[in-house]
Amino acid sequence: MSLLLRGGTLLPLKDHPRPMWGDLLVSGTRIGALGKVETVPLDTETVDVSGCVIMPGIVQTHIHLVQTLFRGLAEDMTLLQWLRTRVWPLEAALDEASLRASVRLGILELLMTGTTTVLDMGTTKLGDIVAEELVRSGLRARFGQAMMDAGEGVPPALLETTRGSLDAAGALTKRWHKASSGRIGYVYMPRFALSCTRELLEATTQLAKLSELLVHTHSNESVDERNAVVMATGRTPMQYLLDTGIACDRTIIAHGVHLDDSEIDILRTTKTSVAHCPSSNLKLGSGIAQVAKLRNTRITVGLGADGAACNNQLDAFEE
Ligand SMILES: [Zn+2]
Repeated sequence: MSLLLRGGTLLPLKDHPRPMWGDLLVSGTRIGALGKVETVPLDTETVDVSGCVIMPGIVQTHIHLVQTLFRGLAEDMTLLQWLRTRVWPLEAALDEASLRASVRLGILELLMTGTTTVLDMGTTKLGDIVAEELVRSGLRARFGQAMMDAGEGVPPALLETTRGSLDAAGALTKRWHKASSGRIGYVYMPRFALSCTRELLEATTQLAKLSELLVHTHSNESVDERNAVVMATGRTPMQYLLDTGIACDRTIIAHGVHLDDSEIDILRTTKTSVAHCPSSNLKLGSGIAQVAKLRNTRITVGLGADGAACNNQLDAFEE
């Protein structure tokens, strides 16, 4: 079975960076031809896409599918207040059905706006439901349960023991890593320094290294969060992530809005990547990341809409 997209504006974004008018033939799961397609296989469905753009799927490097139902429920707050009074209690209240609905709605919104690959952070439970829906969706995904074994304002229903958090991540890795022929992968996701013990961060570093998995966490998002990390650890957030081994070339930190020069240097030397979430940073009043400076320092920067609760939409074009 083949699919011919006839007469669109092609944006290959590679090899031929200039847009061109043409067709795209999909043969099975592969691009069969690009440009003016003259020879069309017999069992081909043709779709007229004149007036449309054909481009590679967008990759979003920071998403929370479990928060899609919270859209509009946590307005006009700064990060720590937003987490403690709204988002964590809402996550704690999710059951199997509501979490599944949230993930499905989020995936639908992503696909309808051109995103085909995500790095998704869940909550501290029901990671199997997220995985089932990702498998079903056709999205390419790296996902993980959030890990939280400490922290002010964390509802009891979300709080894990250190051992429990590590075991849950290990079990999910066994069940879902490289699922769907590698389309789905597991990632260790300590939520952020303020909700994880040092013991959890250090153990995560070891396990991720042993199993060659990626690590994803939030860091340097707002001034208050940054100050709270300094108060709690006596280190800047990136220095603390370096001390605990989290900062490394397998790690992507979400946000990186408030980084001093020594922290940018840690990102550079450890090859830690950054997921930039501009709409979320503006909605929560966190600030504006120094993206040009990061990129000029040769730090890899991706883009993410974050969650619907701190953006209100998941459309990468808006970012
Ligand atoms: Zn986030």
